[in-house]
Amino acid sequence: MKPFNTEDIKRLRAAIDEQEGTIVVVPHVNPDGDAIGSVLGLSRILKNAGKQVVVISPNHFPEFLKWMNGSGELVVYVNAREKAAQIIDDANMLICLDFNHLSRTGEMKDRVENWKGKSIMIDHHPFPQGFADLQFSHPDYSSTAELVFHITKAMGYEKYIDQDAAECLFCGIMTDTGSFNYNVSDPQTFKTVSELLAFGVNPEDIHGRVFDNYSVDRMQLMGHCLSECMEVFPEYNAAVMYLSRETQNRFKYQKGDNEGFVNMPLSIKGIHFSAFFTENDNQIKASFRSKGEFAVNEFATAHFNGGGHRNAAGGEVYSSLHETIERFRKLLPEYKEELNRTQLD
Ligand code: 5GP
Ligand code: MN
Repeated sequence: MKPFNTEDIKRLRAAIDEQEGTIVVVPHVNPDGDAIGSVLGLSRILKNAGKQVVVISPNHFPEFLKWMNGSGELVVYVNAREKAAQIIDDANMLICLDFNHLSRTGEMKDRVENWKGKSIMIDHHPFPQGFADLQFSHPDYSSTAELVFHITKAMGYEKYIDQDAAECLFCGIMTDTGSFNYNVSDPQTFKTVSELLAFGVNPEDIHGRVFDNYSVDRMQLMGHCLSECMEVFPEYNAAVMYLSRETQNRFKYQKGDNEGFVNMPLSIKGIHFSAFFTENDNQIKASFRSKGEFAVNEFATAHFNGGGHRNAAGGEVYSSLHETIERFRKLLPEYKEELNRTQLD
């Protein structure tokens, strides 16, 4: 993995060491396990170092992450706009984790964009926009959580890592790698995990808290989507699944119930490109996953106003669910050669 710029690490250390005011830590909108694990892990470490830290998330975060230390004090911007704006105005430092574009801050975009104080970005997505004073952009890392762990160590802040922080960071790595299934080609990731376990993390316990925490409705929704809302295109090694408003209502859908659905078609022999479309009030959220060479971030950028990693990306469109699925179907022939190139079986 690309080594850190030692001057940047020194600058970061000096900026944090001298910090006496509030440090605001921000994840991306619709935060996932890596985003929340990174912000709560880092905030715990900084608090252990005697710093004042407030985590502000652009919007809600999933129930299955609410066991994390510090999750109770997390401020949700869309629930407390004035309070959050005041905290940001009064803060001295802004640390942005797990995103590299201002568009990923949802309703907080103007606040982050117009921020006058010192800003830091720590992230593992490709193509950084370059909005922060100090940037740690490392797309070769499995997750932002892994990056936070190593930056913390490089800064000499390892002594402030405790079990609570390690659990958050472990969760970030676990969720961003599909439980150590992808983005784990670098042996360093397993060394990182081994170091985190030494802080007392119980992997089985954390895995259970995150993945064995579903409602009956969610399980039945999953069954319904698999049997009624999935279309497989073997000639393109691709599949699409979708979740309409009607189905959401039928299964008492809660935000986050579709977490992980996009990965499921990849378990079908011969399928290495999967799309999942969720119908929201005024837009369609798109999620894409692939195995191997096919770059879903390029696909998401070209057709779905999005981006992400090579094998995990997303986007959004403002048309109907039906039109979106139709558009997706029509795009497949264009990519036939590329899609057929990766033969994993
Ligand atoms: P998910 O499918 O889990 O929502 O997102 C997978 C990955 O795709 C995220 O980690 C993020 O990198 C990226 N992503 C998801 N939605 C968007 C989007 O609307 N815009 C951009 N640029 N990236 C997205
Ligand atoms: Mn991530």
